[in-house]
Amino acid sequence: ALAEDDYEARRKDHISHFILRLAYCQSEDLRRWFLQQEMDLLRYRFNELTDNLRQKFLEHVNLAFEAISEDLKNELANELHASTPGLTMTKVKEQMYYKVGLADAVDLFRARRVFIKDGFAYVPLKEIDAIVLNNYRTKLSKALALTARSLPSIQSDERLQPLLSHLSHSYVGPDYSAQKNTGKISLEQIDTLSVKSFPLCMRQLHKTLRDNHHLRHGGRMQYGLFLKGIGLTLEQALEFWKKEFIRGKVDADKFDKGYAYSIRHSYGKEGKRTDYTPYSCMKIIMSNPPSQGDYHGCPFRHSDPELLKQKLQSYKVPPSGITQILELVKGMHYQLACQKYFELTHDVDDIGFSLNHPNQYFTESQRLLSGGRELKKEPSNSGNSQQKNNGQESTNSNSAPTSSTTTADAELEGLEAYFTED
Ligand code: SF4
Repeated sequence: ALAEDDYEARRKDHISHFILRLAYCQSEDLRRWFLQQEMDLLRYRFNELTDNLRQKFLEHVNLAFEAISEDLKNELANELHASTPGLTMTKVKEQMYYKVGLADAVDLFRARRVFIKDGFAYVPLKEIDAIVLNNYRTKLSKALALTARSLPSIQSDERLQPLLSHLSHSYVGPDYSAQKNTGKISLEQIDTLSVKSFPLCMRQLHKTLRDNHHLRHGGRMQYGLFLKGIGLTLEQALEFWKKEFIRGKVDADKFDKGYAYSIRHSYGKEGKRTDYTPYSCMKIIMSNPPSQGDYHGCPFRHSDPELLKQKLQSYKVPPSGITQILELVKGMHYQLACQKYFELTHDVDDIGFSLNHPNQYFTESQRLLSGGRELKKEPSNSGNSQQKNNGQESTNSNSAPTSSTTTADAELEGLEAYFTED
């Protein structure tokens, strides 16, 4: 059904699909996420087809459901009309109907959206996508389980292993490393910014830090690198974390000996001197899930829906918006849920970009709030004064290329060893 010219594109599509299968078969969580994305893609593409092409597609994938004759359809017209919600009698007469085995139409049957007779469901063409999707889900699910079994032999290939283990959370979008923003914010601005321009994940981390005067290492990593990305200099970061921690159980000496090292490390001033990049949404969503007592992760992915609802209510998100967000979360569309949160908290109808990174959220929010201008630095003595001309914050000649996420991720695993102290 597709033009010859599309051959190359389809070939690439196939290859990337099978590579993704390998990368996403490795855990239940990854498999579930991948299945959901593939379902959405198939639904979109299937619904874009004309009736004729849909019919060809069904035959091509061996879902040869039998279209019933016009005579039989006229004979059953009243029953079809009564059992198929949303179709007028005229539409019933126009639509093609298929005779489908009950096993293939369980979802429609369960939702009482289809006419059943003698063990067959009579499904209108407009509902056939549910069946196609179900069928594909079952096939892909089995295929992923099979692929997972072959993983040990693939993982022993050292060319493939690093690629596969990082693909699920790799990030190829714009670089949100610190350089271009360094020194643009003062410590006094952070509380206000956290309410106006931080995505939910970072707002949650900031609030917890203020409330508990402590964050465990997953939170420090995620939030610390985000702050670095929005412009905190190393000196500001040291001051920020120290002030907060010594209000809790950590004394200044303990902070200087332990925590300060890891902050300098994340700014590329210790150890391998890698200039670490802030985490992308995929990395936050897909790796290192929070345990009890942790506040890192993505609230849309890792929070209990009831707690998420309460949090959104406390942030004055309107009830209809909360319902939409929870629906997106249910469908595993965490980044779309976050986009919806952006729209609702910034009072815009369309976010106008595709969200992939917490620092992108921040940048876009600031752009919007300042009417398209860059964030202006408010005058402040604290924080600012410490980063003047020390030459440390802008570049690091030994740093890894910050846009090379795979390299950075691999390096980061080394870094995380420095954050063992909770
Ligand atoms: Fe943070 Fe991304 Fe989750 Fe939004 S989608 S809360 S930016 S991790």
